[in-house]
Amino acid sequence: RHEGRGNHGAESWLTVLAGPTAVGKGTVSTYIRDTYPEVWLSVSATTRAPRPGEQDGVHYFFKSADEFDRLVAEGAFLEWAVVHGQNRYGTLRSSVEDAIAEGKRVLLEIDLQGARQVKEVMPEARFVFLAPPSWDEMVRRLVGRGTESPEEQQRRLETAKMELAAEPEFDFTVVNDDVRRAADELVSLMGLTPHGRQP
Ligand code: 5GP
Repeated sequence: RHEGRGNHGAESWLTVLAGPTAVGKGTVSTYIRDTYPEVWLSVSATTRAPRPGEQDGVHYFFKSADEFDRLVAEGAFLEWAVVHGQNRYGTLRSSVEDAIAEGKRVLLEIDLQGARQVKEVMPEARFVFLAPPSWDEMVRRLVGRGTESPEEQQRRLETAKMELAAEPEFDFTVVNDDVRRAADELVSLMGLTPHGRQP
């Protein structure tokens, strides 16, 4: 499935990828980081602690709450949001604007609240909804991750139901049935030539 809803052709340099919790946005963006150096993947700032293997400046810019406050006060964020009721995440405005000005194909992988904020200020960007293959598959992924308590899983499923309802706000839907296929589809929506699946 590959639905175009708006008139957002390859002339737009900024693409925003969002979608429900546990749909695999992180997996798709990690794959793109490793496979498509021609995509300029924005590195967000966050107040959450690094996970094992995560590097400052590569996966995120890890910030203290005070540092994040200061960036908010300075107007440094294109958008920012509290995600999962805990930590703050934000896209740094200047780096994204510079990359767009340099003609790079910019990709933001952010949550739905952030995508809505970007749409307010940059409506000409291309908004792509990453959808699960099915509701059952989404439940399986959320539960299968095994890192959350049953209560937390229930809370996330309810959030996911609301998040799925946001799909019509987006210009395109990409179904994450297979990470490489989904990434290739995303890359072609960005006006680039997919090559990830070739040997
Ligand atoms: P994680 O903590 O698993 O890396 O990311 C949690 C969530 O934060 C994901 O849904 C991801 O899309 C979202 N996220 C990451 N960076 C940003 C950002 O800069 N802005 C917003 N609004 N959400 C973000």
